[in-house]
Amino acid sequence: MKIILLGAPGSGKGTVADQICAEFNIPHISTGVIFRDNIEKGTEIGKLAKQLIDNGSLMPDNITIALVKDRLLQTDCKNGYVLDGFPRTLEQAKALSKLTQIDAVIYINVPKQDILNRIENRMICTKCKKNFDKIIYKKSVCDQCGGKLEKRADDNLVAIEQRYDIYTKESQPLIKYYQKQMFEVAGSKTREETYKLVREFLKKRKC
Ligand code: AMP
Repeated sequence: MKIILLGAPGSGKGTVADQICAEFNIPHISTGVIFRDNIEKGTEIGKLAKQLIDNGSLMPDNITIALVKDRLLQTDCKNGYVLDGFPRTLEQAKALSKLTQIDAVIYINVPKQDILNRIENRMICTKCKKNFDKIIYKKSVCDQCGGKLEKRADDNLVAIEQRYDIYTKESQPLIKYYQKQMFEVAGSKTREETYKLVREFLKKRKC
């Protein structure tokens, strides 16, 4: 089962991806996580990512596509995967279509104001990268691995506005591109309600 999750930054793609991956036992491939790992390790890609990500800009298509291509060749991807944050441009979507055939595209649609509130309150585990909403989850360590929670460097209001503008310009065309095979779910519900709809869709698709 090869799945793409579409949606603005902060729409809950990461959470839905974690839920699908846990149930269907497939890897969660987040290009954002791959870039943040590179930043932590201080690689050449990480140095460029640090500059671009912190101000809310996108990484170049050629670098992003090459990283994903390599990742999809790893053995854990043989039964499928969930792509979270990729593709983000039409060029990436076209490159992906040459690499593989996707089984399902899920679009999580959340109004802009909800997105801004969510990103403002988002905390991330420094160890396992799980996301938390600090209004709902009051602790400072992860419930999954005990890692310390912190705010992402690009989760500040200036970068959020910039990321949202880029999303509107670069990523919204993907919604038209994938329209025929796309399942749209309103992401303003609770995590459980959103996932219930996604799960029903995947079961019906017999993915
Ligand atoms: P995310 O964790 O998905 O919100 O991604 C964080 C940041 O990583 C984005 O704001 C971009 O700077 C970069 N990034 C992640 N995925 C991509 C992608 N597919 N193409 C270009 N840049 C990306």
